[in-house]
Amino acid sequence: MVGDFERLAQEFVNPEAILRYRICGGQDARGRSRLHCQVSGSVELECQRCLRPVSVAVDGDRLLYLAASEADADRLESALADEDIEVIVAGQNLDLASVIEDEVLLSLPVVSMHEDCSMEPAADV
Ligand SMILES: [Zn+2]
Repeated sequence: MVGDFERLAQEFVNPEAILRYRICGGQDARGRSRLHCQVSGSVELECQRCLRPVSVAVDGDRLLYLAASEADADRLESALADEDIEVIVAGQNLDLASVIEDEVLLSLPVVSMHEDCSMEPAADV
């Protein structure tokens, strides 16, 4: 549930929304650790035009490479520059919840609005 994630709970109108996520650990052909992170679901944001809730599909799918240090991350990033991947510096305790939060936040549209927003802006209360 969205409400389980502190940062997401502030972002969304409906903290009871269900998000599905899946993280698989693995290695690429060259033995580098990576995570395949997928999130999907639907959340409600405030429509920036009428300020009423608008539901937005969340659909993220990313490969995350794990680096042991900042220097390691730089090396990985330049080695994998052409690929659509993300490198994160993960120490002993990788915070999966924050990885998932990032993924969800990144997959949101920059501007949330009803596709066909014909409502008048809500009056200020
Ligand atoms: Zn609207």
